[in-house]
Amino acid sequence: MTKILVIAEHLDGKLNGATARAVSAASAVKPDAIDILVLSDAPDAVAAEAARIDGVSKVLTVARSENAHALAAILAPQIAKAAVGYSHVFAPSTTFGKDLAPRVAALLGVSQVSDVMSVEAPHSFKRPIYAGNAIVTVEVDAGSTVVATIRTASWPAAASNGSAPVEVLGIDATLPSHTRFVGLQQGKSDRPDLQGAPKVVSGGRGVGSKENFEIIYKFADKIGAAVGASRAAVDAGYVPNEMQVGQTGKIIAPELYIAVGISGAIQHLTGIKDAGTIVAINKDGEAPIFEIADIGLVGDLFKILPDLEAALG
Ligand SMILES: Cc1cc2nc3c(=O)[nH]c(=O)nc-3n(C[C@H](O)[C@H](O)[C@H](O)COP(=O)(O)OP(=O)(O)OC[C@H]3O[C@@H](n4cnc5c(N)ncnc54)[C@H](O)[C@@H]3O)c2cc1C
Repeated sequence: MTKILVIAEHLDGKLNGATARAVSAASAVKPDAIDILVLSDAPDAVAAEAARIDGVSKVLTVARSENAHALAAILAPQIAKAAVGYSHVFAPSTTFGKDLAPRVAALLGVSQVSDVMSVEAPHSFKRPIYAGNAIVTVEVDAGSTVVATIRTASWPAAASNGSAPVEVLGIDATLPSHTRFVGLQQGKSDRPDLQGAPKVVSGGRGVGSKENFEIIYKFADKIGAAVGASRAAVDAGYVPNEMQVGQTGKIIAPELYIAVGISGAIQHLTGIKDAGTIVAINKDGEAPIFEIADIGLVGDLFKILPDLEAALG
């Protein structure tokens, strides 16, 4: 029997959209059941959201004060216990899932499958390697539990028309005391979340300075987009690290991606492979970004962006 346990990612009582994408990947396995596990100190609101995701058989909740913050060291032993009877355990390939899944795999004594982009068979998956330049098929032993992270940019979010039952799960797991929550530091922004936004405007080294980045923020606000950046822009201190798009940053799949003053290095392109329409603004007509751009504007960004803004009215 193929049964998949999807681990819910959530913060401040809200389910992260990455969970519904992991459910889509689970559906592609064509399992007998897909259950979502919500670990929290107060799981009810998150569980109610998870229960609405299409294709979910039931939502299991574990309420413990230790689960108030998503610490992999604390969650993993509980997930390993909950995984008994499941053939697969899926988590989104976000910072949360990448932190968690290896610990779960180790506790279950199996290898982890990373960044699943397609399901070939219940124990066979495709994933990108070498910054997305090659795709490899990974086979898991038929008798092993599959612990996998799901490349969220490769999967649409499952719709929310369901009404799965929610059950309280009693787990007797001994939790470690060597890891404790100290604090959460996160960038505060009124702009859309970079990882879920349908429109993203990113700036690169060509923007030139932290002050100049205002032109990117202004244009993004005009069209209601999230703001991203290349690693060169992050390394130069123009913007904080959490805005980096690419191999060592965020992998995103917006409907519209506008790259401004970005050359199009392979490590950057890895982060936008699944984007819909890509627009590039660059003064160098030979820049590699134009090879993948759907629309290319060759010219000075400090002239083109204000012109575009004016044209939008
Ligand atoms: C292991 C590894 C991991 C990496 N991970 C990432 C990653 O996750 N994300 C990432 O982005 N990079 C990553 N990199 C770095 C990557 O190789 C590039 O160095 C980086 O993406 C370059 O950033 P950029 O395009 O902003 O800068 P540049 O390559 O310097 O390009 C700047 C561009 O701006 C244009 N320009 C300049 N002035 C203007 C103007 N006034 N108007 C219009 N255009 C202008 C130039 O023509 C140029 O094309 C990684 C590298 C390595 C080795």
